[in-house]
Amino acid sequence: MAEILLIEDDVTIRTALTRGLRELGHAVSSSPTALDGLRLALRDRPDLVVLDLGLPDLDGVELLRMLRAVSQVPVIVATARDGDDEMVPVLDAGADDYVVKPFSAVQLDARVRAVLRRAGDERSPDTSVTVAGLRLDPRTREATLDGTPLELTPREFDLLHFLATRAGEVVTKRELLSEVWQVAYGGADKTVDVHLSWLRRKLGETAQEPRYLVTVRGVGVKLVDPA
Ligand code: CA
Repeated sequence: MAEILLIEDDVTIRTALTRGLRELGHAVSSSPTALDGLRLALRDRPDLVVLDLGLPDLDGVELLRMLRAVSQVPVIVATARDGDDEMVPVLDAGADDYVVKPFSAVQLDARVRAVLRRAGDERSPDTSVTVAGLRLDPRTREATLDGTPLELTPREFDLLHFLATRAGEVVTKRELLSEVWQVAYGGADKTVDVHLSWLRRKLGETAQEPRYLVTVRGVGVKLVDPA
């Protein structure tokens, strides 16, 4: 479900799309003019704007430029005009995608979901980390070793992810307590040791025969590429 603002002057199209998008679960508001649409876009902060290019008071591309000056809201342009010559300036002006008339609410919905998915991905960049066969994805909290899922507690995940982002570097227990446990001062090194030993077991290694988690005596621990 998304909050969609539809800026379209043709009442037949506006009514049909509003109804169709609502049936698909979206919340839809609409405007028949460019300037009123701009006002609504800024006031209501919709998740996405569907913008007709041929509007009575202002060219849609002009409106798009005005909108882009103040907002990064995803915009899908609806146009009767087709072809590269027509669409390149529209995309240059900041449209995220376009649909060519006539189109159905179902087709528009597919574009809406694709554009929102893309926008969402950009907002939460891929911060997954891979070291040899070890892969950690903080967005899904999934950890795998050689393709096999690891059953980690949240703390174990955070600890392993922190070490993996610093692969090859020695990290002190003090630093781990502060970064992973959020302990500003105090805190016992023993806590770190215990979690490291649990992690080692899950990774199928020991302190004596480490593969990924290497203890640097008197300093801390480092995560390494076993190769
Ligand atoms: Ca129109």
